[in-house]
Amino acid sequence: MAFDSRKQTWAIWYFIAAVLGVLLLQQAWSTYQQTETIPYSEFEKLVADKQVSEVVIGSDMIQGELKTPKSTGVSKFVTARVDPTLADKLSAEGIKVTGAPSSGVLSWIFAWIIPALLFYLLWVFLFRGFAEKQGLGGLMTIGKSHAKVYVETDTKVTFKDVAGVDEAKFELQEVVSFLRDPKSFGRLGARAPKGILLVGPPGTGKTLLARAVAGEAGVAFFSISGSEFVEMFVGVGAARVRDLFEQARKAAPCIIFIDELDALGRSRSVGGIGGVDEKEQTLNQLLAELDGFDPSIGVILLAATNRPEILDPALLRAGRFDRQVLVDRPDRIGRSEILKVHARKIVLDPAVDLDQIAGMTTGFTGADLANLVNEAAVIATRRKSAATTAADFTAAIERVIAGIEKKSRILSAPERRRVAYHEMGHALVAATLPDVDPVLKVSIIPRGVGALGYTIQRPTEDRFVLAASELRHRITVLLGGRAAESLLFDGDISTGAADDLQRATDIALEMTTLYGMAQTVGQRTYRASPQFFLDQAQSRDKPAASEATLREIDVSVRDIVSEAFIEARDILKRRRADLDKGAELLLEKEAITAEDFPPIQKTPPKQAPQLPHARSA
Ligand code: ADP
Ligand code: MG
Ligand code: ZN
Repeated sequence: MAFDSRKQTWAIWYFIAAVLGVLLLQQAWSTYQQTETIPYSEFEKLVADKQVSEVVIGSDMIQGELKTPKSTGVSKFVTARVDPTLADKLSAEGIKVTGAPSSGVLSWIFAWIIPALLFYLLWVFLFRGFAEKQGLGGLMTIGKSHAKVYVETDTKVTFKDVAGVDEAKFELQEVVSFLRDPKSFGRLGARAPKGILLVGPPGTGKTLLARAVAGEAGVAFFSISGSEFVEMFVGVGAARVRDLFEQARKAAPCIIFIDELDALGRSRSVGGIGGVDEKEQTLNQLLAELDGFDPSIGVILLAATNRPEILDPALLRAGRFDRQVLVDRPDRIGRSEILKVHARKIVLDPAVDLDQIAGMTTGFTGADLANLVNEAAVIATRRKSAATTAADFTAAIERVIAGIEKKSRILSAPERRRVAYHEMGHALVAATLPDVDPVLKVSIIPRGVGALGYTIQRPTEDRFVLAASELRHRITVLLGGRAAESLLFDGDISTGAADDLQRATDIALEMTTLYGMAQTVGQRTYRASPQFFLDQAQSRDKPAASEATLREIDVSVRDIVSEAFIEARDILKRRRADLDKGAELLLEKEAITAEDFPPIQKTPPKQAPQLPHARSA
């Protein structure tokens, strides 16, 4: 059974408060009665002094009343019954004596039963109200629910509030129609979507989109954030995940949204020693829930991440988060639309041209633009102006850019030109070579530092068999960027291709040591994974291959990559006119699709397109 520390402490505090409350009530009750507890000897003395007017004798207690109140004002007293011959003595003194069947039933009820009942009712009342507000349905779920689940029955956000991410909206439209009517969706033979991963830089509106899907479909929105699972007792995370799914199943149709999935679903091989067990347990529980999960009941899983590359590959496997939706930084038109959404909330001078402002804000995310509109309105207010003008926006842009520049970089003009050629290089090589996925969209909109681009690939085991030529062509596409730079700047290449080279090297290494595709090295396997191989090669304790073979592997990898580079360069030389034209168009529009620039279109188009290969450089 999981141990939820927070609930436990709450219960302990409640208990302490209840006991204190009972004691206080008892105190109040006895003060109300003005009763004083006295020793028996004093009682005898009082009797002898003829101070007592009346007593009630219980089986072990004597309650009495004095003829005249003491100096403290107390006239009632109570004492323990000691003397069995008491009644005679009392009668002899002429005192009225009454026997009580059991001492102070009434006061006992007042002192214990009523307060206890009161606290119980309070407890029930508090928790039922709490539980119902959470939509968890009454007292019974209290003991079971460990999850800090946020459920919104109406997110009040719709697709209208999200702009500039039309592709993502289009993909999610299917989810909306499924949630609106899960039953008839299945009848038409369409397979219900299960897990969809929203991928994109921070601030592009992933969380907003997820809530908009719930709003559009009019279903409940269960959400948790992966970062909540960090620093938790072992077992709690797993219990939360279990409860989340249990509750969502009861509330179907609904959406489960896991924000910051990377915090929870970080690749199991990465990370420190501390907390690994807990994360693994939580992740395993999530994987188990994903597998034992039937979407036809009308529950859709959405997750968001800005670091897809560190996710555990198991999460991306077929039947889990096997659909990825790219939520990219907006292009110029998108930015203009986002500005319009947020400008609705302020008083805007009619002369302000939002399209022009969009042109000045390359690289801004939706969150940056929302911030910009707000800043501009703040500046206008400070000026005591009636409306926000273009000058306010210009001032706000400077301010916001200063903030963004700390986080990510804005490209200079020569840099932009280089990046445009680089990206067009990838796209044209991909369009030229057979059996590689075409590029759907090319973009030079800068990304945050450290973001390695948003090309998502499913683990190879879920893909079809790949021929050696296909792998070679993939490497060629990866080197297309650098080849284009080299053509443009006459061999002066840049650091921008580091990530491309890394990925090209990985593929070449796999070809050589895993698939036996390099003639010089031969057809045998040398390791389980590239990382494993490198570790082995470095430690030299148990070399995966002999020194000579290791050298041959190195040479083979280098040859594969340099041959690919030469091929990419040749292709681009042949298509130099397209390269120049495409790069110019890209500089102008920042992001272009195959529709904007047909030369990057492949003929005939492949059936299963990959996500756009749009990399930072
Ligand atoms: P993410 O989850 O991708 O980091 P959020 O959804 O949290 O980004 O976005 C933060 C805020 O920025 C939103 O609440 C919204 O005001 C604004 N925003 C971001 N993207 C958009 C967009 N595409 N359209 C309109 N507003 C946006
Ligand atoms: Mg978010
Ligand atoms: Zn590249």
